[in-house]
Amino acid sequence: MADGRRAIPSVERLLSSEALQRVLAHEPRTRIVAMLRSIQDEQRALASPAQPVDADWYAAQIEARLGTERERSLREVINATGVVLHTNLGRAPLSAAAIDAIAHVSRGYANLEYDVEAGARGSRYTHCERLLSSLTGAEAALVVNNNAAALVLIFNTIALGRPVLVSRGELVEIGDSFRVSEIIARSGALLREVGATNRTHLVDYTDQLAGTGAILKVHPSNFRTSGFVADASIAKLAPVARAAAIPLVHDLGSGLLETLDDLGLPHEPTAGEALALGADIVTMSGDKLLGGPQAGIALGRADIIQAMKRNPLCRALRVDKLTIAALEATLLSYARGTARVEVPALRMIAESAADLRKRAQQCTADLAEAGVTATIVDGFSRIGGGAYPEADLPTSLVAIDSRHGSAARLEALLRAEMPPVVARIAGDRVVLDLRTVLPEQQAALVASVVHVC
Ligand SMILES: *Cc1c(COP(=O)(O)O)cnc(C)c1O
Repeated sequence: MADGRRAIPSVERLLSSEALQRVLAHEPRTRIVAMLRSIQDEQRALASPAQPVDADWYAAQIEARLGTERERSLREVINATGVVLHTNLGRAPLSAAAIDAIAHVSRGYANLEYDVEAGARGSRYTHCERLLSSLTGAEAALVVNNNAAALVLIFNTIALGRPVLVSRGELVEIGDSFRVSEIIARSGALLREVGATNRTHLVDYTDQLAGTGAILKVHPSNFRTSGFVADASIAKLAPVARAAAIPLVHDLGSGLLETLDDLGLPHEPTAGEALALGADIVTMSGDKLLGGPQAGIALGRADIIQAMKRNPLCRALRVDKLTIAALEATLLSYARGTARVEVPALRMIAESAADLRKRAQQCTADLAEAGVTATIVDGFSRIGGGAYPEADLPTSLVAIDSRHGSAARLEALLRAEMPPVVARIAGDRVVLDLRTVLPEQQAALVASVVHVC
């Protein structure tokens, strides 16, 4: 048996085994094939598989996995929408390194708040701070639950009971639960609107400086204005704010750590660039363009960051070890210069039109083999998450010709698959954008399409 443990039986042999007939009776064959392949990949990755890997074992694995999938409320879905940072689908997928890091610190105990060298109490806030500083040039950094939490904490710390100046053109709503005005109100600061919806000038701020707690600039992440518009730039506001000793806060939103200009996208400031323009504090999300876990990152002046850490509200907004582990691992990819290949959100944004076409061709060929007609049409993917609202990334869409029913019906059937497939409808057809489908999910995607068509 010793050798038999290591040998991985072929998928064909497993499918014809008696053990697998039970699952084949109630699950589509294509899905079982995809599951067998992925279990085999896991087996190959193990140095020495612990269990006998015979057909009975495979059948039990598949039964267990199907059972667990059905029990869970929160579960994996296949994102075939082409929206990379899809807020409803959990924003950024994590890198392999981030997933490893989560497992590494959560199996047992971790030095979350323990200084191993000193043998004494430490701080959870030390773990990512040095990396964030070295990647952005920030004097200090603090990681909390999300960007909304970072903003609440900042204004509660530096502007409690005092006005925060915000341009009327920047009182934005993001998603369905984040409005800058409401965040400021709940922080205990007072919103003071300046300027007009389309035009705000430096003098609109300078007229209101007396007694002001902070000035906030908000990145117009999910929309663009055009026509007769003006705003006071960070570069112009910074010296005025500094002279009046009023902190200037910049809500950057999506939080690029390195530029994506080379991909032909319009220039977006990186966190480092935003800081260099003169804001005292820059805030951003961890799970948007940064490509890490949900988190809010505040970067900038050490005295303000220190005061935020001492604010009792910080305790209510703090992140757990899983977030810190995933964020640190993601930041390490940037520090090594390998973020473009390791961080899935960046990899997806950077995936070339030619590579996407090849994957679409593979997908249509696999579907054709199973008797499903699909055609490739040119289309666009979106970055999402409020980032680059106008950027269209050229892609190749796989348009499905359903033999029965409308596109809406096919789309609903795909959502009922396990894992659910979330697709788009374009014209009167269901289209799949492989940009946001992980390569290892493609076989399961094909299996689901075949199953419902
Ligand atoms: C997304 C976004 C937020 C909210 O960030 P969360 O991390 O989801 O709390 C705030 N401001 C801007 C400009 C954003 O784009």
